[in-house]
Amino acid sequence: METEKLFYTDAYQKAFEAKVVSCEKSSDGYALELNRTCFYPEGGGQPADKGTLEAETGKVQVLDVKEKDGRILHLTDKPIEPDMLAKGEISWPWRFQLMQSHSGEHIVSGVIKALFKLDNVGFHMGTDFVTIDTSGPLTEEQAYRVEAEANRAIWENRKVICRFPPEEELRDMAYRAKKAISGAVRIVEITGADLCACCGLHVANAGEIGIVKIVGLQKWKSGVRISMLAGNMAYLDYAKKCKAVAEIGAFLSSKQDDAVGAVKRLMEQISGLKEQIYQMNRREDERKAASIPQGQKLAFFFEDNMAPDDLRLLSLALAKRAVVAAAFSKAGEGHKYALASLSVDARKIAAEMNAALNGRGGGKSELVQGSVAADRESIEKFLEKCN
Ligand SMILES: [Zn+2]
Repeated sequence: METEKLFYTDAYQKAFEAKVVSCEKSSDGYALELNRTCFYPEGGGQPADKGTLEAETGKVQVLDVKEKDGRILHLTDKPIEPDMLAKGEISWPWRFQLMQSHSGEHIVSGVIKALFKLDNVGFHMGTDFVTIDTSGPLTEEQAYRVEAEANRAIWENRKVICRFPPEEELRDMAYRAKKAISGAVRIVEITGADLCACCGLHVANAGEIGIVKIVGLQKWKSGVRISMLAGNMAYLDYAKKCKAVAEIGAFLSSKQDDAVGAVKRLMEQISGLKEQIYQMNRREDERKAASIPQGQKLAFFFEDNMAPDDLRLLSLALAKRAVVAAAFSKAGEGHKYALASLSVDARKIAAEMNAALNGRGGGKSELVQGSVAADRESIEKFLEKCN
């Protein structure tokens, strides 16, 4: 027997009483069927409700809700015996947020259709945001226009009407639908903003959505994927972002309005400092090279915290004076290195060093970079033998 769907009579009903029809153990709990329910099963892009069922024998948690052939199965953590009466209560904050998101999505999709003749070809209500995939491209500017129009429809507090119109009325109705539907079609109308076939749950008045905000726009197949937030989710995101901007402002001693400018200035400072450090390091390389007698057979330096690029440039600077030059920097238990020569094949010396010191690396005749699993003493011992 089909479950009586109380959520279609009144999407705002939070509690109800029902009789347990069956209760079967499943792999992750119990699949419990009631003669009627307020629990919305996952479907039409909208996630399932959560909540509790309470019988004489105690309270059970409803963890998931699914529909199969018109029968709604509540996945619970504990059983309730068939024929018992149960009081059900859905988690209202969760459900209301989903209703805000779902109605918000309809308005945004309706505006996209009206302004740019694009279809919503994919819709997902995730825990972080709602996504809409469109049938064609949309620029950032167009997306802002959609957002502004959608919010205007929300603030005009348009009515949201959910109903099953008779077939003759349906025939002439230009409604959005993702796929061909057989049987009774449920139409969700947001007056003057959208008309869509949908089995999900909605707010009664658009004003309850509060706000919609597009927070992401990326290319997706032949269209775009819009990430959006509505109602409470948009509010929570706004609160989080205000806090983040305030923190950035405090870190940079800037006004919140100027946080972006302050970050830009900081980035410019950092890149200026990086350039200064680079120039200082090159002067230091030249100073080290100048300390080596021209034509010395081997020159090497150990330095802390050297990046691979600095090792490379130091070894090349040294190689202008010494026949073979190497630079080492500690890395974990071993050392990374750069080995350079302008007159002999650096690869040959590096190969010998790698064999002796459990290392690896690669490069060209003038320069090899790699690492050895050896301490400074072992490396120096090896180099002395080469000298
Ligand atoms: Zn829908």
